[in-house]
Amino acid sequence: MQVESALLFETPAELYARVLRSLKPKSPLPEIRVEFRRFANANSLIRLENQRLHVKITDLLEGAPAPVMEALAHILLGKLFRRAVPRIYGYRYRLYMNRRDVRRNLHLVRQIRGRKVLRGPKGETCDLDEAFEVLNFRHFDGLLARPALSWSVRRSRTVLGHYDPSHNAIIVSRLLDSPATPRLAVEYVLFHEMLHLRFPVEHSGARRRVHTREFRQAERAFPRLAEAKLILKSLAGC
Ligand SMILES: [Zn+2]
Repeated sequence: MQVESALLFETPAELYARVLRSLKPKSPLPEIRVEFRRFANANSLIRLENQRLHVKITDLLEGAPAPVMEALAHILLGKLFRRAVPRIYGYRYRLYMNRRDVRRNLHLVRQIRGRKVLRGPKGETCDLDEAFEVLNFRHFDGLLARPALSWSVRRSRTVLGHYDPSHNAIIVSRLLDSPATPRLAVEYVLFHEMLHLRFPVEHSGARRRVHTREFRQAERAFPRLAEAKLILKSLAGC
């Protein structure tokens, strides 16, 4: 309790100095610079270079309560020095980021500041708009509103598809846009992302459930699911 009341009188640099001293009591303190930046997401960055600690925090957190700033300091410094971060800090930070007003601000910031580079739905082997409509009728009674659909710019192996709610867009990795890739694999990735449209992320407390039970249950209705997953596994592995 004493520590938290002291927080109210600390500048961000003093806060980082205090947490740093608690992690590395014997090392001399570097010069510390903390800035709030207009990022397009909730990321914060930390860097130690030539005895200078540079912290860049999203301006979304500029008015955050001191205990949240303290939690973030523990998270960032823990990451920098590869130290385990006490769970309470991760919990406290997520609890704050999960608040409805904070999520709404983040959503707006992503929409306004984030630039989305889209290549469009027409690939070499598959038109995502067409594939969407086929799946929409087959699995959703044609009721899903079509978001922006696009092949990704890079051929990502790690992210085969994602749904971006801030831009209402589904992006599919261009890796799959190849005559060698069975149509089934593309359809499954697209279907999975369409389920994200149908079943939004659930937030409660510090928890965020992306793949809810309803989501998983609906996913099992995809025909030849195991076969599709196997194809994707082999693509990601090669
Ligand atoms: Zn998913």
